Amino acid sequence: MDNESMYAELLELITTDSASGKESAIARLLIGKLEALGFAVTTDNAGETFGGECGNVLGVREGELDGALLLCSHMDRVPEGLGIHPVERDGVLYSDGSTILAADDISGVCAILDGLRRVLAAKVPLPRLEVLFTVGEETGLYGAKAMDMSKLHAKMGYFFDSPGSVGRFVHGAPGLYQLNAEITGRSAHAGNEPEKGVDAARTMCLMLSTLRQGRLDPISTANFPILRTGSTARNVVCDFASFQGEARSRDVKRLEDYVAYFETHCQKVAAANGAGLKLSKVENFRPFLVPLDDPILAIAETACRSLNIKFRAEIGGGGMDANIFSAQGITCVGVATGYTKNHTHSEQLVLEDFFLSGRLAAALIETYAQGCESK
Ligand SMILES: [Zn+2]
Repeated sequence: MDNESMYAELLELITTDSASGKESAIARLLIGKLEALGFAVTTDNAGETFGGECGNVLGVREGELDGALLLCSHMDRVPEGLGIHPVERDGVLYSDGSTILAADDISGVCAILDGLRRVLAAKVPLPRLEVLFTVGEETGLYGAKAMDMSKLHAKMGYFFDSPGSVGRFVHGAPGLYQLNAEITGRSAHAGNEPEKGVDAARTMCLMLSTLRQGRLDPISTANFPILRTGSTARNVVCDFASFQGEARSRDVKRLEDYVAYFETHCQKVAAANGAGLKLSKVENFRPFLVPLDDPILAIAETACRSLNIKFRAEIGGGGMDANIFSAQGITCVGVATGYTKNHTHSEQLVLEDFFLSGRLAAALIETYAQGCESK
């Protein structure tokens, strides 16, 4: 495909409204595009797991070669992604400033489609190709979590969903826990008999001021930015307070150790102050780390070299669908397609990188195929 048609497809999909749980319009278009390329397309009920209107779109093309390769990106986008008016200036695509651009992750979708068209046009023998467009990625990796893994044969997957210039591969990302605490005190008249009260607000402050947080170690962080109390009157001892935060680490053991420390710490402070405590935690996703000598990165490096692209393997800071599939035994890396400042109104896509990312998708497929045996 030439740059013009790749660009036209980018604009077509960016200007098609989508949101987490509202991916139907994009899904319909992508089903048509995959079918036109000869893929057998199925959808699932992933949407039902989080109140969304549709499921993941999976396109499969059986190959002439052994082996299977997964190519993935997501169909939803963060809020303020409706009615986007893309504006091009000096080879960079922006929104008009009133919305996001949704290059995250439409540029990834387009890179995969362009790569598929290129390898199919080359009429070279291919392995089984599994193309997965997920729902609900931005709000909680819901599509990935609901995926029926038995439909995937691939043991290796490229996730076109990473910021940065083309050639950047994300081979690791932290795991994340959401942590919450509810502190129950006892109300009392603040002027007449404060000693009869148990101050939940003060207990919360003691808890947080003595809790290890921020940068825990080079690969772990914690942050507790949401604080509330149940009080509206200044003359009553506070009987309820709550706070919410998160912990991340690239190492699952360190993450679990911190969660255990957090729980013990909060329990000690609550007990010392006579307050009740309810803790809750949600493991959002596990960390993943692909060793630098893994074949998935060797293929990426070879593919980059064939296109004169500078290969870089880096660690990312956020969670992505790849975290979920990694935990299911598929070796995954993120692939950058040229966007930066995603999730903001300043999101931008360098078009030269974007066009190259389609060629890179094709080169990844072809390089993988070179290591496959004939059936
Ligand atoms: Zn994304």
